[in-house]
Amino acid sequence: MNISDAQACAARLSGSSESPAADVELLLCHILECNRTFLFTRREHQLTAAQQTTFEQLLQRRIQGEPVAHLIGSRGFWTLDLEVNAATLIPRPDTECLVEKALELMPDSAARVLDLGTGTGAIALALASERRDWQLVAVDRVAEAVILAEINRQRIGLANVTVIQGSWFEPVTGVFNLIVSNPPYIDPDDPHLRQGDVRFEPLSALIAEDNGLADIRHIATQAREYLVKGGMLLFEHGYDQAAAVQQLLLQLNYSDIDSAQDYGGNDRITWAVWNSAPLQDSCGEEEKNRC
Ligand code: GLN
Repeated sequence: MNISDAQACAARLSGSSESPAADVELLLCHILECNRTFLFTRREHQLTAAQQTTFEQLLQRRIQGEPVAHLIGSRGFWTLDLEVNAATLIPRPDTECLVEKALELMPDSAARVLDLGTGTGAIALALASERRDWQLVAVDRVAEAVILAEINRQRIGLANVTVIQGSWFEPVTGVFNLIVSNPPYIDPDDPHLRQGDVRFEPLSALIAEDNGLADIRHIATQAREYLVKGGMLLFEHGYDQAAAVQQLLLQLNYSDIDSAQDYGGNDRITWAVWNSAPLQDSCGEEEKNRC
C-alpha cells in the first residue's frame, strides 16, 4: 500500500465523518511522522507492514466514530500543537475566535489573565504565546486536565502560565484584568450530545443545567470579585445563548456588553466590562458574607 492507496481509503469514512479526506491525511501524517506536503509530493511512497496495520486499526476506530484528535493524540489550535486525551474537551476552531477577540479588546500592555475550565490549556496557552508580558492563571477542576494543560505548557515552553486545580474561582487569589472561559454550556437534553466527536468527550466539560447557562451564571456572578475596575469578562457560549448571556451580564451590573460571531456566523462570544471596583474590596466586613 502506498500513500495514494491509503488516501483512497477515505471513501470508507464517508458514512461516519464529515471530512473523510482530511481525517485520512491527519492519520497518515501521524503514522508516517510527516507533514501534508510529503503526502502530496510522495504519493508512491510505500507504507511499511507495521504502518499499514496501524493505519487499518485507526481507520476502523474512526469508522466507529472516535475523534481523530483522540486517535492521533493531538490537535492544532491557534499556532499551537496541543496534546489531547479523553479527559477533556478537544479544542474547537471556533474557540480561536475567543482568543482573537481577547487580543483585539485588550490593550497591548502587561495584564493578569484568568482562564477558567482550561481543559487542554488551549485558550491560556494561545493568549500567553501572543502576549509574553501577560501573566496567566489556568484553572481546571479535573486533575487529568490540569496534568494535560501542564504538559502542553511545558512542551510549548511558556513560563507565563500557571496551571492550578480547583472548581472555578475556588483556588484563585488576586484580581485580574481579563477573565476568559469556555465553560460547559450545552443543555443536558440537547440531541447534539449523541452525535459526532462529543460522544467521546467528558460530559462534565460539555453540559450545564439551566438550559446550559448554570456555569456561565456562576462564573459571571463570582467574577465581579476578581476583576479590577475596567476589567473584562469574555465567554464562549452556545450558538443560541448570546441574548441570554447578555441579559445575565446586564443584571449583574456589567457594562459595555457585546457579542461576536464564530467561523460559522453564530453569535458565539460575549464580553462585558466590570466598571466598579472588585466587589470584595468595595464591601464592608458585614457585607462581605453577602458578596
Ligand atoms: N462548542 C462545543 C460543541 O458544540 C461545546 C463546547 C462547550 O461546551 N464548551 O460541541
